Amino acid sequence: MGFVLDLHLHTQRHSRCSRINELRLIDRAIQRGLDGLVITEHHYQWPQAELDELLAQANAPGFVLLSAFEYSSSKGDILVYGLQPEATKEFVPGGEPEKMLAKARAMGAVCIAAHPTRAEISFDERILKMPFDALEIESVNLQPHEQRLAKKLAESLKIPPTGSSDAHRIEDVGAYATEFQGPVLSMADLQAALRHGTFRPAGKR
Ligand SMILES: [Zn+2]
Ligand SMILES: [Zn+2]
Repeated sequence: MGFVLDLHLHTQRHSRCSRINELRLIDRAIQRGLDGLVITEHHYQWPQAELDELLAQANAPGFVLLSAFEYSSSKGDILVYGLQPEATKEFVPGGEPEKMLAKARAMGAVCIAAHPTRAEISFDERILKMPFDALEIESVNLQPHEQRLAKKLAESLKIPPTGSSDAHRIEDVGAYATEFQGPVLSMADLQAALRHGTFRPAGKR
């Protein structure tokens, strides 16, 4: 068994569309067999103090809790890992997807295309030229045929695939996840692993 993380989910604390009570999040993730979580609110990144506080409230030694954010461009959503929480201010919602991806990467972020084949709200043909580090090919917000399309897209672009829940309800936390070859204990570890492609989607859990 590798190291299993859910890389994409939202809590009600900072995402109005989510009904997940953050105080139940870690227990649920442990029940689901996850080694850790990355909270990716819409246009907000939990600062370390907030993560520390949540971890302190849970009795979860060794559990890895990280934060990143989800950026909604004019065409497609981008998961941005490894910037400082204040950097979210520089990412005004609705920007051009390829420009915002380039900006995030220039600032040192690692980026995953969120639900790239989701009906209505996904990328257009520009995704074929966007240098994502990974493509999310499995989540509760991708129908089975959208998951198959996303898998094909990742294969044809030679970009490694991830799975994540994109949970907005507590029961979906960890429904999909990504299995890493080795421990991922920090954002630096996560960035390195995503850059090296040492992971695979863990399938429906
Ligand atoms: Zn949402
Ligand atoms: Zn999301």
